[in-house]
Amino acid sequence: MKVPLLDLKKQYEKIKDEIMEATEEVYESQYFIQGPKVEELEKKIADYCGCQYAVGVSSGTDALLISLMAAGVGEKDVVITTPYTFFATAGSIARLGAIPLMVDIDEQTYNLDPSLMDKAISSLDKGMRARLKAIIPIHLYGQCAEMAPIMEFAAKNDLVVIEDAAQAIGAEYQFPNGEIKRAGSMGQYGCFSFFPSKNLGAFGDGGMVTTNDPDVYDRLKILRAHGSKPKYYHKLIGGNFRLDALQAAILIVKLRYLDEWTEKRIRNANLYRKLLKEIDPNDISLPLEKEKRHIYNQFVIRVTNKRDALKKYLSEKGIGCEIYYPVPLHMQDCFQYLNLKEEDFPVSVKAASETLAIPIYPDLEESQVKYVAENIGEFLSKA
Ligand SMILES: *Cc1c(COP(=O)(O)O)cnc(C)c1O
Repeated sequence: MKVPLLDLKKQYEKIKDEIMEATEEVYESQYFIQGPKVEELEKKIADYCGCQYAVGVSSGTDALLISLMAAGVGEKDVVITTPYTFFATAGSIARLGAIPLMVDIDEQTYNLDPSLMDKAISSLDKGMRARLKAIIPIHLYGQCAEMAPIMEFAAKNDLVVIEDAAQAIGAEYQFPNGEIKRAGSMGQYGCFSFFPSKNLGAFGDGGMVTTNDPDVYDRLKILRAHGSKPKYYHKLIGGNFRLDALQAAILIVKLRYLDEWTEKRIRNANLYRKLLKEIDPNDISLPLEKEKRHIYNQFVIRVTNKRDALKKYLSEKGIGCEIYYPVPLHMQDCFQYLNLKEEDFPVSVKAASETLAIPIYPDLEESQVKYVAENIGEFLSKA
């Protein structure tokens, strides 16, 4: 049996006619850049995320970059994030000449560990402390970071909160007072990616920034088109961060199915939990479902010492799996100038050597989930 890590062809088969119709409308209109389709998608994503506004952009990476630009982050400013995320989070900070201040993650959720924030900023000298501007928590794998303490810390230290919600569209977080909010609606900025492998994927690159602040919304729209308002009059230096009308038309169709797809991911996750617990309750750690709604962009298991052997074994059995992420960002060549030591972030380093993402996409058959679980079991009984 073959079980790819992700199979988008099955999904496409089911919605092909609707996609064709929606894209044909764009071809007929010959209106390709921004326009009514992008505006329609922005309204729908804002609603879906429980936000006032949304601004379509060219990718999740650009969502992060334009948010940092709109927040006024620049040369030598300091932005808190974690070393255990996709490169774009810290990459966007560094591209603006700002300094990523790494804070290690929680061992079980892989999200920023709020108990380490105070210590991280107490190590800053006075100059850097004064340039501490923002924090980017990541909702990794589809589960919200612990936003209550993060928002409190941000308020106390006057920081802008930019949520990296690239993997978490529709994920929910419950505050201690019982209030439930969606990813991207808690900070001043919510950054989403429509990269094809995300839960809501375009047919190419795309992204979105959500916000509840009308001034932020204005700034984002201006920065998206080279900082011009009105056209050809530039108060700010922006860029080309626009979303294509074609991608918007496709995403409007796919958004109608997002909740159904997410429920299927959750169903697959529950089945894995049941099967893997029966097979081996000791050697594998299953993802901790700590927050209200985990949307399972990835289902990441953890095995001590034999992760690479397990990956190889599963690959030989036709099962796609991947390591997110094999090298924590503080150990990347391009960040050596930050002078960070491997042991500075031990939880991230350990996670990078033990985690493995297994197939979780919505169209996975029950028999495929069983096949994956069985093979994990077989590997562990031999290992
Ligand atoms: C995918 C992703 C991004 C970047 O999104 P792109 O659309 O690929 O540019 C940023 N952060 C995280 C956590 C991601 O998973």
